[in-house]
Amino acid sequence: MLRQGQSHRDTRSASIPLGFDAIWKGGRHGCQGGIGARLHGVRFARYPSQMSATIIDGTAVAAAVHAETREAIAALDTRGITPGLAVVLVGDDPASRAYVRSKDRKCRELGLYSEKHELPAETTQSDLVSLVRRLNADPRIHGILVQSPPPPHIDEAAVVAAIDPAKDVDGFHAVNVAKLALEDPTGFVPCTPLGCLRLIEASGVATRGARAVVLGRSMIVGKPMALLLMRKGAGGDATVTVVHSRTRDLPAVTREADILIAAIGRPGFVRAGHVRAGAVVIDVGINRVDDPGSEKGYRIVGDVAFDEVAELASAITPVPGGVGPMTIAMLLSNTVKACRQLTGG
Ligand code: NAP
Repeated sequence: MLRQGQSHRDTRSASIPLGFDAIWKGGRHGCQGGIGARLHGVRFARYPSQMSATIIDGTAVAAAVHAETREAIAALDTRGITPGLAVVLVGDDPASRAYVRSKDRKCRELGLYSEKHELPAETTQSDLVSLVRRLNADPRIHGILVQSPPPPHIDEAAVVAAIDPAKDVDGFHAVNVAKLALEDPTGFVPCTPLGCLRLIEASGVATRGARAVVLGRSMIVGKPMALLLMRKGAGGDATVTVVHSRTRDLPAVTREADILIAAIGRPGFVRAGHVRAGAVVIDVGINRVDDPGSEKGYRIVGDVAFDEVAELASAITPVPGGVGPMTIAMLLSNTVKACRQLTGG
């Protein structure tokens, strides 16, 4: 069976335009001797003798985004400004806590000011909104994120509505949703689809005129992803179709995609029969599946059946190591953008 980063057969060559330097790459998703490629200063691996798809290395693309963020932070520092991010977590969900801590760690690593507010599960709606209002007024804070999902007694929509849209670096406030639809560049785009777009660009495929199919219509991934791809100009100009649980003959639609983005939360849902040969496949899914053989008893898989789709696609993101690292990279990038906009820089 073909495994991520492994190879066992010779297949078609990739159909994406590999108009960049071929290099040799080993490393995380690579194996020594695999041919890699470099685009926008990012390396990613190909396995020409064994599998068809280029692996789009999200860790490497995220590192390139972090490098841009670091440069922007240094430029702000010359004006005595430090971008600040506040992350608010209500409750003690272990996964959310780990996620919040990793954001905090990355902020410090890059030189952002970071505040972590870990509140007990019984925090009231009004106390949470009061904290958000204090953060709105705090000049050290340029980005505010309230970790989702909050406990059931919290009205998440009301909390998001309380965030100053100018500090809404998650891009969930109605003002920012509207700005995305209006193609207003001052708005904030949700981090995961924004990261997916960077990965698509890193794959080298042109979105202009391409047929893109987005699988899933959530407000945090599917809808903003579709809006991004249909925007006018660079990274957009795609012909976009959104499919969901009510779509009739879904595989027939996804098979038309030059670019397929899967964001449904169903492990291994996208099979070879959903994918056209040569498509670029972006797997947003993060699903925990039982794996008694592993140390933790589970493993994380995407929405795409990686092994069989990698034999057909021209480029594909792995899980983990694909979209995941991009979300935090785009969050910190959005925070720097918010800081610049708020400080006139
Ligand atoms: P969501 O809010 O649950 O939305 C899922 C979407 O998929 C819905 O539009 C749903 O259709 C559609 N869907 C579900 N089952 C389907 C089926 N059998 N056939 C067709 N469509 C189906 O999920 P989400 O928040 O967008 O997240 C999706 C996945 O991405 C999850 O695995 C999540 O963990 C992951 N994720 C990853 C990141 C990251 O940083 N990498 C960030 C966010 C989310 P209906 O609308 O018709 O119900």
